[in-house]
Amino acid sequence: MSADPVAIARELIRCRSVTPEEGGALVYLQDLLARAGFEVHRAIFAEPGTAPVDNLYARIGNAKPNLLFAGHTDVVPAGNEAAWAHPPFAGELAGGKLYGRGAVDMKGGIACFAAAALDYVDARASKPKGSISLLITGDEESVAINGTVKLLRWAADRGESFDHCILGEPSNVETVGDTIKAGRRGSLNGSLIVTGRQGHVAYPERAENPIRGLTILIAALQAPLDEGSEHFTPSNLEFTSVDVGNATVNLIPGEARARFNIRYNDRHSQAALKTLIERRAESAAAGRIRYAFEWQQSNADVFVTKPGAFTELAIAAIVEVTGRKPRLSTSGGTSDARFIKDYCPVLEFGLVGQTMHQVDECTSVQDLSTLTAIYRRIIEKYFG
Ligand SMILES: [Zn+2]
Repeated sequence: MSADPVAIARELIRCRSVTPEEGGALVYLQDLLARAGFEVHRAIFAEPGTAPVDNLYARIGNAKPNLLFAGHTDVVPAGNEAAWAHPPFAGELAGGKLYGRGAVDMKGGIACFAAAALDYVDARASKPKGSISLLITGDEESVAINGTVKLLRWAADRGESFDHCILGEPSNVETVGDTIKAGRRGSLNGSLIVTGRQGHVAYPERAENPIRGLTILIAALQAPLDEGSEHFTPSNLEFTSVDVGNATVNLIPGEARARFNIRYNDRHSQAALKTLIERRAESAAAGRIRYAFEWQQSNADVFVTKPGAFTELAIAAIVEVTGRKPRLSTSGGTSDARFIKDYCPVLEFGLVGQTMHQVDECTSVQDLSTLTAIYRRIIEKYFG
């Protein structure tokens, strides 16, 4: 049995599993886990307008508690492959580093928890006291519609339940052991549309320029949303585009739009946040600006995994292996933890994220063995 995280990571990197392609990555994991006694399932999910995506769920043991490791084998495209010093799908080792797309995000992380689980099962020469499960999707980096969200529901429909989850996303900033992500901000996208009256720039009194109104509303909406909370930095509204689409130099346009994204903390619910934004616009418009909001559907609500026994256990494992006490962070973009949190408490802990999505993405080989040792320790403590 191979419990070498470097070997597993190399095999995974060699699979061209750019979303939505399976690329052989799940086939490889299925074989690896099945040989160690895991019961492995594959599930393909599809939906009109999206590509079908392959997913994997594996479990060893029938008893509770069920410790879940989650991750994704899909990767973002390599971009210009000629720009890579080490080919993105070769899994080359050089100077103590393993190179390739997905090395840190997050085939490396999967390799580490797979190796830790295999090693634990091997050492006990039997099934664990409870159960260890792996939930691996091929749809995280893109729209994340046919991935974890559906796989969790599929598993629940089969009677599976989870007690705690480690999501192996690259959570660390500088060094393995510096950061656990224990929650994520919510994300909400909206557009603001101001309507005016089109006309000749030389006769502004006969027109109504929506850009004037839009700038007033933009200024009002950029005021701070809060001062942060116990577990979160302040929420932030960021305008990402201002669009008029007017190519004519002497024309006052009839409409102006702006798009924005809000990363919000646990002081807000999505509904309350929309109300707050709409009230601010109403007050700034003072009845003189005609405007409307368009809100996009969002499945990325804010959540926080409150410190408790599981968090303490993970911290203790990290301290024992690295000597570092990790900080609990809620920074960064969204992840599949937003779906997992509806089923069980979830912490995110993986490799160092510095090179994720970059040319020559890489992890140090040392980090792979350190992370494997941490996961192994977490499993030991969890069932100990
Ligand atoms: Zn990732």
